Amino acid sequence: MKKLFSLNAIFRIVFLLLTPVFFQYFAIGFIWHSIYWGVITTVVLVWMGFILITPLFGRIGCGWFCFMGTAYDLASRHSIKVTKWNKPKIWVRFLILVPFFVSAIAFYFLNSGKGITHGFAIIPSFLALDFSMHYKIAWMVDISFAIILGLLLERRWGCRNLCFMGTLCAAGANYSRLIPVVDVSKCTLCGKCEQDCLLRIPMLDYIKNNKGLVTSSECILCGKCIESCKSDAVTLKFIWNRKKYKERIQASQQ
Ligand code: SF4
Ligand code: SF4
Ligand code: SF4
Repeated sequence: MKKLFSLNAIFRIVFLLLTPVFFQYFAIGFIWHSIYWGVITTVVLVWMGFILITPLFGRIGCGWFCFMGTAYDLASRHSIKVTKWNKPKIWVRFLILVPFFVSAIAFYFLNSGKGITHGFAIIPSFLALDFSMHYKIAWMVDISFAIILGLLLERRWGCRNLCFMGTLCAAGANYSRLIPVVDVSKCTLCGKCEQDCLLRIPMLDYIKNNKGLVTSSECILCGKCIESCKSDAVTLKFIWNRKKYKERIQASQQ
């Protein structure tokens, strides 16, 4: 499993470099345009898919595919700010999420009055692949924004505070069946996993107080904690019933 997760960074960098090719199919800003025109486009389908799987497979979209997340992570290595664990403020997230959808829906109704919307028909190619310069510039603006945030602020600050998709994915990830689990019998409480975690999730708290189940909705399943642990104490597990799993661990410790 460690080997698989050591590929995460390479996979994401390759994916990031490929995104100019299918920018309109992936960049979440185009969801606004899709609502504006009343069309279910590829970008909507892709991210709806990522949101719908969160109760089962967590935030795979954020930890393996999102190019903005990758750009934040690359820049964060040289960040001037040390990341401490701060629980994201839900109200700040909603300050972004609500205007995003309200403005798009308002424009949808304006357009609909003019008869130029499409009744939310599924048209994957509506925002067709387009290699013209203004899309490349838009991609560069997005990446530069992520890099600047990554350099100036804490790790994944944008994910935790700005991104409306992060808000939606975190809501589902609260129930994720796929989570990192620490084998407390192997753990030496060295804290390396917590230090290296891209979100600075307080791993030690989960180890001490949650039988090693890392149930944070901020976890993006990047596997950095698995890679970092010298004691091989962290694995990714599919746990259907967290309560029963904890009871089983409790029973085995008695
Ligand atoms: S929270 Fe948003 S920006 Fe961050 S990885 Fe997820 S989708 Fe991308
Ligand atoms: S890195 Fe491994 S041994 Fe160290 S605290 Fe984390 S799980 Fe425990
Ligand atoms: S807890 Fe592990 S898998 Fe989750 S975000 Fe942190 S390092 Fe990645």
